[in-house]
Order: sequence, then structure tokens, then C-alpha cells
Amino acid sequence: MVIIMNPDATAENIKGVIRAVEGTGLMAKVMEGSQQKIVGVIGDKTRLASVAIDALPGVEQSVAISKSYKLASREFHPQPSVIDVAGVKIGAGTPVIMAGPCAVESKEQLFEAADIVKAGGAQFLRGGAYKPRTSPYSFQGLEEEGLKYLAEARERTGLRVVTEVTTVEAIDRVAHYADMLQVGARNMQNFGLLKEVGKCGKPVLLKRGLAATLDEWLNAAEYIMNAGNPNVVFCERGIRTYETYTRNTLDLSAVAAIKHLSHLPIIVDPSHGTGKWRMVKPMALAAIAAGADGLMMEVHPNPAKALSDGPQSLTPENYREVMECVHKIAAFMKEEHIEPMRV
Ligand code: PEP
Ligand code: MN
Repeated sequence: MVIIMNPDATAENIKGVIRAVEGTGLMAKVMEGSQQKIVGVIGDKTRLASVAIDALPGVEQSVAISKSYKLASREFHPQPSVIDVAGVKIGAGTPVIMAGPCAVESKEQLFEAADIVKAGGAQFLRGGAYKPRTSPYSFQGLEEEGLKYLAEARERTGLRVVTEVTTVEAIDRVAHYADMLQVGARNMQNFGLLKEVGKCGKPVLLKRGLAATLDEWLNAAEYIMNAGNPNVVFCERGIRTYETYTRNTLDLSAVAAIKHLSHLPIIVDPSHGTGKWRMVKPMALAAIAAGADGLMMEVHPNPAKALSDGPQSLTPENYREVMECVHKIAAFMKEEHIEPMRV
């Protein structure tokens, strides 16, 4: 439920509402609406049955949120959220670019990739140290050694680091080295992991599950937020459909839908979304035009030699070309005040 206050409600009125809500054992959270303050109520709203909320001083009306996710919903938080990751703001109007190899393979490979990524204008270096591979015989990642290289690459370049965490046991280790934790597609509904990353204190990049509906994805974010971490960014990375030409079907309509349903930022990963490096540029440009808050792209100094996801990785030259066009589209949209949708 959200309780919408009158535009002229006083601080005392708001305190009164909070007292009434908390008196029933529920949690209250005050938020700025576009015109007025809103008090969000978290928990089983039947507990409020004995309180005449709408009659309290300063209350305009109370509105039930019928959705199963609340903290992640637009109703609960009408203004878009900006997520600050070590000083880089995601959702603030300028697309944020996360780029780097699929996996950290060696210090040399990562440093080379980091320099390329930085020169092209990305703000984040990506790279998996814990790789969720389909086959147990495929390269599984360098684990903590890989995390150390990522942290060293950050020192070298000033890039922020985003990297995947695949198990609850590794959360503290990954959080120690990274600026942002990635929950991968295969773990989007690993509820134990979601609850624990909700307690880790670092922002979370939540990728869409392999065949997840938007409702399931939003509820996955709710798990993280409900555990105490409001800093969640969605990442659309394609879903499995009947199509076999592409690795996944990149659902760009998810950008518009998530913007409507949630206040959280959403970025797009056209690399995993298509599985083909040739398709990364057009999908990256389309994602920005659709209103995505950023991109995640795989870049490798030598994709032909990559230990994972070579076919979808950009060469340094291709990456530079994609970035040039991304910057042009973003600048044009800003200059012309193009807002992709009214939420
Ligand atoms: C990745 O980003 O390296 C990755 C494994 O992506 P996804 O979870 O989307 O498959
Ligand atoms: Mn990959």
C-alpha cells in the first residue's frame, strides 16, 4: 500500500502516519512524489484494517499495490531512481557503459582489455572470475586471482569493476574487490543468493533469467531490496525462444516495460542477447534509442583466442566503432530532448 499525503501535509502529519503504520508492526518508508510526499507500507496490509488511514491528518488517499513486488514498483517510488556505483551514476540520463572480456583469463589479457575499454569511453570494466559454464569441462574462471586482477585494473584505469557472483560463499570475497556485484541469468531465481546479496552493501546488477517473465524478474529485484539493498540495476540479456539463429532473443521491449513498471534503471547486454558480434552494434544503438540507461558489452583483445564467448566479443576496432556511434546517438537524443517514453 502507498499513502499519498496532501501537498500541504506537515512534517507532523507524516510522523503521525508513520507512527500509525509502525504501531501495527508494519514498515513505513517516506518518498518524494512529483508533487507530494508518499508513505510506502511494507508487509501484510491486512494488519492496517483497524486503522482508519485515510482519516489521519494530512492524508489524501491510500492506494493498495496489487503487485507482488512493491519496493521495486513505480507505484511505491514514482520518481526514477539513480543508482550510484562508486561515484558513477546509473539512470541519471547519460548511458553508462560496462565493457570487457567475458572471463578474466590472465593479468595481461585483462589489462589490455581494460585499456581498450577505458580509451573507448566506458565507465565500468566487466569480466567474470567465477564463470557459470554450461559444461563442467569448460574454463570455470580464475576465481580470487581473477578478482585481484580486476581490482588492479581498476587502480590502473580508474574504471569501476562489475563482476559476477555465483555462490553465497563467494559474496564477501567478490564484494571486497568489486564495485558492483552481478547476479547472472542462471541465478536470477536463486533466492538464497538474492537474499544474501541484499545484505552485502554493494550495488547489484541483476540480469534477466534465461526464460524469466518481467514479473519474475521484478520479484527477483524485490528479494534483494527487501533484504536491505535498494541499489539494484536490471540488465536485459535476452531470453530463450524458438529462434535458434541468435543465442537468445534480445527483448528490447523489456526496456520500455521495466521503465513503466519500476523506478530502477535498466541496461542492455547485446552480446549475450544475440551471441553474435555483428549484431552487437545495431542492438546497442537500438537499446540506447529505446531509453536504456546503459550497455554491457563483451570486448576481447583477440576474440578468436577467447576462452569463452569469443563469437560475441567485439575486437578493439569494433568496440571503438560501436562506442563512437553510441555516443553520437546519446548526444543527439540529449540535444533534441528525445525522451523515448512517458512513464
Ligand atoms: C556474463 O555476463 O558473463 C554472463 C554469464 O551473462 P548471463 O548471466 O547473462 O548469461
Ligand atoms: Mn559471456
